[in-house]
Amino acid sequence: MKSELDALEELQSLDLQTLEIENELKAIPKNLEEMKSEVEHVAALLEKEKQRLREAEEWRLERDKEIATQNTLLGKSKNKLQVVRNEKEQKAAQREIETVRKSIQDREEEAIKVMEAVEQYRATIEDHTKEFVELESHLKASEEEAKTRMLELQAQIDMGLEKRNATASRISPQTLRLYDRIRKRLGRAVVEAKDGCCQGCNMEILAQTYNDLHRYDKIYQCANCFRILIYKPKEIPSILPPGQEQ
Ligand SMILES: [Zn+2]
Repeated sequence: MKSELDALEELQSLDLQTLEIENELKAIPKNLEEMKSEVEHVAALLEKEKQRLREAEEWRLERDKEIATQNTLLGKSKNKLQVVRNEKEQKAAQREIETVRKSIQDREEEAIKVMEAVEQYRATIEDHTKEFVELESHLKASEEEAKTRMLELQAQIDMGLEKRNATASRISPQTLRLYDRIRKRLGRAVVEAKDGCCQGCNMEILAQTYNDLHRYDKIYQCANCFRILIYKPKEIPSILPPGQEQ
């Protein structure tokens, strides 16, 4: 029975190892998906910023056209001033010139503001393009790494399964079924009985059971969580020579 219990412990450690490997394997595509969505997010952001830049540039071109039109108008108004026939016409022409000048000034101020915005947009786009390129190349490298790692992990799982079969053959079918049933429900099916307690659920083990465990004559289970209990004798500490006590 002791050897069956040893085999059970081995089996459990193999199963826990495999579980860890399977979890790592499952996490890989998930991580890649997260990276991909980050790349897509930055790409979408960049596209929006480029659109905003195009609009700002178009707007600036419009202002330039308007300024050119107003300048033509200003020329015309100045010409009018040359041919005024009386004071009234002179005042009217001067007012017209003032209005056009004001309009040109307003548009020029707007154009400067748009230019500043355009510069800022360009700088942001440059930063985000850099970020995008870095993220994308990181994603590509990670995809390559992931392929290799997934193959490694799958090989480890396959190897673990071979070992598991060999170990399981040392355990009776009945005990194996019990182990699998508890494992499916609780994850860890074999636990140590230490200081009178089940290390799975931390409940006290019946004194009689705890004593019987020392005999290794059959499979004992915790009365509370039903896990399979294993008793490990305490190691006797070696006696250190005088003067070397710790
Ligand atoms: Zn228990």
